[in-house]
Amino acid sequence: MRIAIWMLPAVVALSVGCGHVETPAPAKKEAATVTKYGVPVKAGPMDNILLKDYRPSPSLVVPVTNIAKPAFPVIDAHTHTSMSGIRTKADVDAWVKTMDEVGVEFSVVFTNAQGQEFDRQVELYKDYPKRFQLWYSFDTSNADAPDFTASTVAELERVHKLGARGVGEITDKGWGVELGEKDGVPRDRRIRFDDPRLDAFWRRCGELNMPVNIHIADHPSAWKPQDATQERTPDFQTFALYGKDVPDHSELLGVRERLLAKHPKTKFIFCHFSNQGHDTAALARILDRFPNMYLDISARDYEMGRQPRTMRAFIDRYKDRIMFGTDMGRDKQMYLDWWRLLETGDEWMKGRIWWPYYGLELNKATLKALYRDTALKVLNFK
Ligand SMILES: [Zn+2]
Repeated sequence: MRIAIWMLPAVVALSVGCGHVETPAPAKKEAATVTKYGVPVKAGPMDNILLKDYRPSPSLVVPVTNIAKPAFPVIDAHTHTSMSGIRTKADVDAWVKTMDEVGVEFSVVFTNAQGQEFDRQVELYKDYPKRFQLWYSFDTSNADAPDFTASTVAELERVHKLGARGVGEITDKGWGVELGEKDGVPRDRRIRFDDPRLDAFWRRCGELNMPVNIHIADHPSAWKPQDATQERTPDFQTFALYGKDVPDHSELLGVRERLLAKHPKTKFIFCHFSNQGHDTAALARILDRFPNMYLDISARDYEMGRQPRTMRAFIDRYKDRIMFGTDMGRDKQMYLDWWRLLETGDEWMKGRIWWPYYGLELNKATLKALYRDTALKVLNFK
């Protein structure tokens, strides 16, 4: 006799009531088969693979187009001395050789320095005035000092005389401008981009025609739980802000608007698509409101490659406001991967994240603006 599980208590009670205990047969253990996407999902050896170890090897056979040189000589508007591993003049020589090989004419270098360290870097790059431009970063650890604004402006003027032609990359991921979690500044005392103590500085940047590269907020996935719903793989959890004592993504982006409105004569380049490349329609609305706002595309290969048609339309439309940048060191293959992403229509390219990329196939006019013409117009080459 088959007894449904829900009937068991009644059967047991009935048996007890008769003074004779009948032990029911144990319920048959059937391996549960889940159906997902119309496919029976069964247990197997892959169940123990960790997400961070997953390296799918695609069977797809599609054209692979190698672009050895970009369509136009490139101006890279976003590099770092530190991330490019530049310590000696020989390192700079090697970088120039790679730039020649891959078709990069000029690189904007963020020194992340002021004072003596800035001067040291001027010396490091001085053999190549036509290949590099050094940008200045200020220090906010003394922002409460009465002479903070005056001394920061004075240092800006000093480095400008030494050849600095911009300011950046200046970052606020929520901990405050140029501050991190370990600085431990209480939330209500953190300096933000629209802080009055920085007003004279931003104004002076405009007067000296020194554009400012700003990293505001971070990729929105950083604010989402580090669980099975997280958009980026564990390799990116170093950027996690979920549950931390920081304002949310949209609150930080709100500071951007106040900054742009306050300083219409200063050019602000928001790097990584202003960390809003996931929603180009919203980003377009801000660009339309603030003519002093510019973007660089650096380190957002994964944002572009997953929405090639949307991104192509966006970059076509705003090509006079968007600059090419890498922010990923100086490896030769890194540059070649960028040319392939931007110039070809190749499909299912392996990228830096779990999803594959699709080429944007940008037209020549857009490539020319993105690679160099917008930078020639926005940056200061005098
Ligand atoms: Zn950067």
